[in-house]
Order: sequence, then structure tokens, then C-alpha cells
Amino acid sequence: SKPRRLDQLLSSLGHGSRREVRELIDAGLVTLRGEALEDEGQKIAPQDVAEVRVEGEPLEAPDGLLVMLHKPVGYVCTHAAGEGETIYKLVPERWTKRNPPVTSVGRLDKDTSGLLLITDRGELVQRWTSPKSVVEKVYVAEVDKPLEAGLVDVFASGTLMLRSEDSPCLPAKLEIVSERTARVTLTEGRYHQVRRMFASQGWHVEKLHRVNFGEYDLGELAEGEWRVV
Ligand code: URA
Repeated sequence: SKPRRLDQLLSSLGHGSRREVRELIDAGLVTLRGEALEDEGQKIAPQDVAEVRVEGEPLEAPDGLLVMLHKPVGYVCTHAAGEGETIYKLVPERWTKRNPPVTSVGRLDKDTSGLLLITDRGELVQRWTSPKSVVEKVYVAEVDKPLEAGLVDVFASGTLMLRSEDSPCLPAKLEIVSERTARVTLTEGRYHQVRRMFASQGWHVEKLHRVNFGEYDLGELAEGEWRVV
């Protein structure tokens, strides 16, 4: 990377508009190796970025942010409110003020809980959500009536069709965990895919929770909590 103007650097990391950032600088709150910086136009070399502090704190993830969030039921994965609380209410406001702002890697339904990745790195969103990408996502689904062993083959068949779509779902792994609970592993991410796969066979998904996204595991992360990875 190249040297960047101090005000542009701070603004891109969510510290506010150029004007707001200049106020921080004028107040002596921005330092480089302990010395207050005075010129908002000063160029900061890449190797110095780690030495800059704002109000005593090092800059947060200057090379990009990747975060695991345990999404609770009831939150929507959109930036605009209106359909209810958004997941961006659950993370520091500074992240949404970054340039580019953080965004979720794909989406979970409002009624689905579990692991959602959030990042400002567009190339990761591309890589992990493009229709060509093969990323395993693991869900735990609770359904309305006893599961049947035959579902395992149907999900694995590569022929399961969803209404109003013209290509079958790729083979998916279904494991029956208990009478009404299944673990489902998908490599695609179509709209409401797990719910619709079950619906196509006559089961209704009552609860859906994602425990895994590619190499990332929800683990013990509590509902509503996030962790930078
Ligand atoms: N499948 C669904 O039906 N919903 C989700 O949120 C994710 C996968």
C-alpha cells in the first residue's frame, strides 16, 4: 500500500468525516509515536500506521476487518432499517462508518440465528458468496414432525428442485440428529434455501441456526456477541 493522508486514513477507519477528524487532530488527540500530529494532510507511511493512536488507542484493523457475529433471531441483514432491527446495531457504529463500510457475507433470514461473517473486505464477500464459490455452511434445523431417513438421499441427490427455480440444488448433506433435528451442510446459498429444501419435501422448519461458515465455527460465541478474527 501507499502513504495516505492522515485525515483520509482516519476517516476511512470510521473516525468521522474529514471535518470531524480534523477536530480530533486539532485537539491533539491523534499521535504518532506519542507526538501529537498537527497537519491533517500529513502523509502516513504504511509502516507508521501501526504507530498512530487516536485518543490513546491504536487504529483498528487498518488493513481490513473480519468479524464473526452470533446473529440473534429478529434482526435483519440490511443496512436500512424498516424491516426491524438490523444486525449493524449489534456492532460498533465506527465499523459502519468505515470506508468501505462493513457488510455481511451473504445473509441470514430474520428468523434464522447463528454465525454471520461481517467484513469491510469486498474481495472476501465476493469469494464467499459468488455462485461459483464452494463454501460449506452448516445449519441445525428443527422441523415440525419426525424426520425420515429417505430425506438423506433426497438432499444428497443433486436433483432436489425448488419452486420457480430452473436448476436443482447441489448435493447437500443431511444428518438426522434427533427425531425432529437435522444438521444440514450446503455449499450454495440460495434464498431461504434450507427452509425451502425441507418445504419441498413437506416439512416445515421451525427453528434454523447456522453453526459453521467455511473454516469459521460459531463455537461458544454468545448470542448477539461478535469477535474479530
Ligand atoms: N437457509 C435458510 O432457509 N435461511 C437462512 O437464513 C439460511 C439458509
